[in-house]
Amino acid sequence: MEYNEETMGQIKLLDQNMINMIAAGEVIERPASVVKELMENSIDAGATKIAVSVEDGGKKLISITDNGCGMNAEDLAQAFEPHSTSKIKTSADLHGISTLGFRGEALASIASIAQIRAVSRTKGSTGANCIEIDCGDKGNVSPCSADYGTTIQIRDIFYKLPARRKFLRTANTEMGHITEQFTRISLANKNLDLTLIRNSKELYRLSDKDDLRRRIAELFPIPSSDISENLIDTQSSEKGLHIKALMGKPLISRTNNRFQYVFLNGRFIRDKFISHAIKEAYRGLLEPGRFPVVFLFIHMPFEDYDVNVHPTKIEVRFYNANLVHSQILGALREKLLGTNLEMPGKLPEIQQAESTSRHSPPVRDSRIADAMAEFFKKHRPAQTQQQLGFRSTSPGTIHAVSRDKVAQYDRKFLQIHDSFIVAQTEDGFVIIDQHALHESIIYEDLCRRIRKSKLQSQKLLIPESFEVSVSGEEVLKANAELTDKLGIELVPFGPRTMAVQAFPSLLSNVQPIDFIQDLIDLLEHKDARLDAESLLDEVLNMAACKAAIKAGQKLTDGEIEQMLADKQNAESASRCPHGRPTTIKFSISDLEKQFKRT
Ligand code: ADP
Ligand code: MG
Repeated sequence: MEYNEETMGQIKLLDQNMINMIAAGEVIERPASVVKELMENSIDAGATKIAVSVEDGGKKLISITDNGCGMNAEDLAQAFEPHSTSKIKTSADLHGISTLGFRGEALASIASIAQIRAVSRTKGSTGANCIEIDCGDKGNVSPCSADYGTTIQIRDIFYKLPARRKFLRTANTEMGHITEQFTRISLANKNLDLTLIRNSKELYRLSDKDDLRRRIAELFPIPSSDISENLIDTQSSEKGLHIKALMGKPLISRTNNRFQYVFLNGRFIRDKFISHAIKEAYRGLLEPGRFPVVFLFIHMPFEDYDVNVHPTKIEVRFYNANLVHSQILGALREKLLGTNLEMPGKLPEIQQAESTSRHSPPVRDSRIADAMAEFFKKHRPAQTQQQLGFRSTSPGTIHAVSRDKVAQYDRKFLQIHDSFIVAQTEDGFVIIDQHALHESIIYEDLCRRIRKSKLQSQKLLIPESFEVSVSGEEVLKANAELTDKLGIELVPFGPRTMAVQAFPSLLSNVQPIDFIQDLIDLLEHKDARLDAESLLDEVLNMAACKAAIKAGQKLTDGEIEQMLADKQNAESASRCPHGRPTTIKFSISDLEKQFKRT
């Protein structure tokens, strides 16, 4: 429509169905939004059992059955009208909302964009009632037979709105979003029996166990034997603010913050203050670019925050955000620092054939790193972070150590704290961060090889199988070219299970499953704007970091010699792929100045 004086003058009130459709755009983005709204309604109705069943990623059908209080005929007719809610009555009720819903918008919105059939029966009534609505076109309420509670079926979402329908993704992607909503609600309501069925097959059946760790293990069967076993409990209560957290140990950190589940009085929220507090709590315990796994449950008076700031209520406004921040940070950090994070035999998960590797906890590593960093900040030498001063020879292959090259330094090196190598150079000495250096050497090697062809791989003696989520399976399929280039061979191995048959030889000391899990994570959450090249680069970064020797690992003289030789041949060994320096150089003349010799 063109706007000119004539048309601009004709302001008209939109009809109610149009208003609902527009409002639906805010609350109902995709099938997963419907699942969230309806499950929340069931919880508000006091249900103890909720079953969700979807077909075709929810595009064809979403059906939710609960055993809650139900609605009588009159309420059933009213529930789908805009702004109809039983949860608030006066504006005063807006302060201190204890239910998940209150805006009276969801059912009206959903009813305006799909075909609905709702059946409901209240406790104690002799029969049920049902109503059908087709994109806002409402039929009459009529009696029918059904059990106590409510069943709502939504078919063909957005079928009259092709522009919206077009934005829906594949069934698998939509299913991934639904699973995520289901997961959030399941974590927040561990006392409820919840079932998720996809195309008639049961994906999850969580029965009332009231045991959070158990629920976490059921919800995250894949990376999680890890997750549920590596959580630290903490609680704190202060000024009406109650916090309960299950914090992942640093060794199960992830490449993104998807595994940070924060709940406020049973509602999943995203909040930048809280994310910041979590990040700060783990400061120094994780490598940059890693995110902790955290399940955080906050309980506070409903009056102390406003949920009415976002259409889907995923954001809230705390009246005292500082208190929330400082209490979460304090409780989490105190617990983390007071916990012995040592995990003998589990960390780092690499087998060094010849080395007498001594496994040491990441905390200590990072404390040493912190202390060193602090030291060097105060005693900053004139020239830092330069290449080793070894006399340069013609570049050879990375893995062939030139004996005499190192021999000329007459073994003048030393490993300190199993984390750093101090080596004499022509005009002074250098301190090398062993993990960072090794990482950059491997990274360069990987880049060079993959530029030429795909990475060489090794067949596993026994294929390792792993469970994979629906969306995980999808990203692996979509990125088959990438995994192939990496030399990873994956085959289907049963329902939601895959097996690794071959893995790159260069990553022989990396656990294939662990690597693939992180790869899935990375692929699922990569920035959509990332081109193939940068994505590959990110993957190689991750691979290098995993394959590199860790801080805290004792090295043999031979291994140190190897690294020093490799360093000399590497192009950019002075910085690890994350951009941190690998080497800090001190010159004799600097030392002499410091000791007032000159
Ligand atoms: P809100 O949840 O914000 O009140 P909705 O549009 O989601 O708004 O629901 C409107 C009303 O319908 C609710 O206030 C509630 O009274 C009723 N209702 C919705 N779902 C159920 C259910 N599963 N069981 C019982 N009552 C329900
Ligand atoms: Mg609602």
